[in-house]
This record gives sequence, C-alpha cells and structure tokens, in this order.
Amino acid sequence: MRILVVEDDKDLNRQLAAALRDEQYSVDVAFDGEEGHFLGDTEPYDAVVLDLGLPELDGVSVLKRWRGDGKTMPVLILTARDAWSEKVAGFDAGADDYVTKPFRIEEVLARIRALIRRASGHAVSELSCGGVVLDTRGGRITVEGASVTLTAHEFKVISYLMHHRDEVVSRTELTEHIYEQDFDRDSNTIEVFVGRLRRKLPKNLIQTVRGLGYRLADPDAEAKGE
Ligand code: CA
Repeated sequence: MRILVVEDDKDLNRQLAAALRDEQYSVDVAFDGEEGHFLGDTEPYDAVVLDLGLPELDGVSVLKRWRGDGKTMPVLILTARDAWSEKVAGFDAGADDYVTKPFRIEEVLARIRALIRRASGHAVSELSCGGVVLDTRGGRITVEGASVTLTAHEFKVISYLMHHRDEVVSRTELTEHIYEQDFDRDSNTIEVFVGRLRRKLPKNLIQTVRGLGYRLADPDAEAKGE
C-alpha cells in the first residue's frame, strides 16, 4: 500500500512518513501544494494525508483539482484546531476524513487503515482468505493462527493482494503500489516475491492468471473441491 503525505511542516512530514513506513506502507512526501498535486495526479496512491495550510497551492484547491480530474483515492485532511469552516470546506472539496492538529500519530494511522480498508470494500480490520489472516492493525500475517515471518516487500505484496482479494492484480499494479517514487523498480522482482510467498503461505493461495497477473484463492475451498 502506497501513501502520499503532503505537509509543509518538515518535522511533522518526517514524523508522519516514518510512522507510516513503520506500518509497512510505501510513502512519498511533498512539502507544498503544487508538488503534492503533481504527485497525486501522476502516481497511484492507496491513501493521501493532506495538510490544508500549504504554500504554493492550498490543500482545498489541491483536493478540488484531484476530484475534478476524477481521482478517487481516499484523502485524510489535517486541519487547524477549532477551524470548523476548514473542515466543511475540506469535506465539500472531497475529503474522506480529517484529523485536527495537534494529533496523536496513532490516530492518523488508525484512520488511514480504516480509509484503505473501506476503499477496497472491507469493513473489519482483519482480512482473511481461508486460514490466512492479515491483521491490518499490527501488520501481521497468520496461517491457521500461526505467525508467518515476511520481509517488508513480501508483506507489501500479500497485503495489497489481500485488500484486493476478489480481483486479478497485474504485476505492474503491484509494482506501482509497493515501491516508493524514487525506488528503482523492476516488475520481475514481483515474481521473486510471489515465489517466496508461495513457499511461506499455503501453496494454492496466490494463483497466476496467465497474461493478467495474480489472484487470491481460498486454499481450503480448493482442497475441498478436489
Ligand atoms: Ca501547514
């Protein structure tokens, strides 16, 4: 899952990015409205944290432009304390949720998790496929209750697939959602990660859809059907 943080306060931007990376998200950052608008316009994000008070272009204008161009990614706005009119302007521009400054990072993380879940159609924080369970709160995967140790990239791949479990996901899409902007991307490495995941998780969980990509299948249902 890939997240954009648009915040001109450098310390706060760094804190948010670090906390999100700790939760296994890939994070791109922008420090003004123009740069933030450009990134959100050209890269696919699973969620955006958008400060409203920004240099170059204010947050409400950034959001209006994205929505006007048909961008639907979930956006969490950061607003000043007691500025109810800012919140109203933010929601009217297309925001999905808000946090008032000053805030606890934990609240931002919880709201981001909820926004990403909701955007992919999930109402609860544990996503499951057969006996494989992804707890989005702890960034943990279990198989039949037993913890599985994954590298950061392996986790990002399975997390994206679990959030999109009824869809066929292409290697390009996976590449775009697990790497940060400056990372030297190579979609062939996706095959390597999937190969490793197949050794660590039930063998039939990640199915290859020839020429299209990958799709999750319930390994228990497969076993019963055979
Ligand atoms: Ca600001």
